[in-house]
Amino acid sequence: GKSGIVILGIFAADTAYKAKRLPHIAETLMGSGFTLGPGGKGSNQAIAAARAGGKVTFISRVGNDPFGEMALAAYAAAGVKANVMKMDGVSSGAAFIFVDEATGDNAIIVAPGAAGLIGIEDVDANRAEIERAAIFMTQLEQPLDAAIHALSMAKRAGVTTIFNPAPARAIPDSVYDLCDFIVPNEVEAAELVGHAIETDEQARAAARTLLDRGAKAVILTLGARGAYYQAADRSEFVPAFSAGNVVDTTGAGDAFLGGFATAISEGYAPVEAVRFGCATAAIAVTRPGTAPAMPSRGEIDALLR
Ligand code: ATP
Repeated sequence: GKSGIVILGIFAADTAYKAKRLPHIAETLMGSGFTLGPGGKGSNQAIAAARAGGKVTFISRVGNDPFGEMALAAYAAAGVKANVMKMDGVSSGAAFIFVDEATGDNAIIVAPGAAGLIGIEDVDANRAEIERAAIFMTQLEQPLDAAIHALSMAKRAGVTTIFNPAPARAIPDSVYDLCDFIVPNEVEAAELVGHAIETDEQARAAARTLLDRGAKAVILTLGARGAYYQAADRSEFVPAFSAGNVVDTTGAGDAFLGGFATAISEGYAPVEAVRFGCATAAIAVTRPGTAPAMPSRGEIDALLR
């Protein structure tokens, strides 16, 4: 039988600078804080799924540099199998994150480096592993052709597919048929359907639209409100959990997806898996950072009880 979760995506070292404001061109500004940690949506989702108890393989590329070492150390610590190509002559992915010290608002530049070179050859090199997985999951930070190639390969082999269309961008209509679960946040869903998602009615309409385009099920994540599940036979709002003071919501979506993928891989019914994902994310938002904030299975089960 099929087992485990295979995730394709990027790694980027998150370098976060706190300051009063962004500097102007040619200006140097003194900041008030700095943090460095592993990031990238696919990478965060892989670590979240493994911490939640999933058997995870992560397909990516990094450079032969200290950020690449950081990535591989994070996978070893979380128990993620790293099918990660280490490349000479190109840097690991890195993200410049400006954090406004007063408001916490951020502005981000992602330079994907080695991960921007991910292509269909990375998918083909991992064919056997993808085809025997229970779950395949990917996003849109690496080139789109690699994501589509992998989703098609997984779907043809009867692997359950989870597609997180993030960051927001247009995608070909042919992608929907490849999705057992499509999981956008409100901004990404708005981009796909072409209207704002501010009310429950708009959320329902957007989920319906994505279902009509061919996705087997749609999960819209709604931030602190929770998530909305829509399949042909069933729809349900799943409220968010509260696990303490919210300190950093960055990576909430990745925590949700990691938890959700693990639950689906263990045979949870979809709505129960959405609850599991919401519980995973609720704990992650009580801690700073992205990958280091991901909860253990014990913590998730305790919140669900
Ligand atoms: P981000 O871009 O910040 O990583 P996102 O925009 O992709 O996140 P959201 O929809 O904001 O994703 O959040 C994903 C899930 O995380 C939600 O469905 C919800 O279950 C949980 N969540 C988000 N914010 C909170 C919060 N303040 N309290 C509890 N749970 C939350």
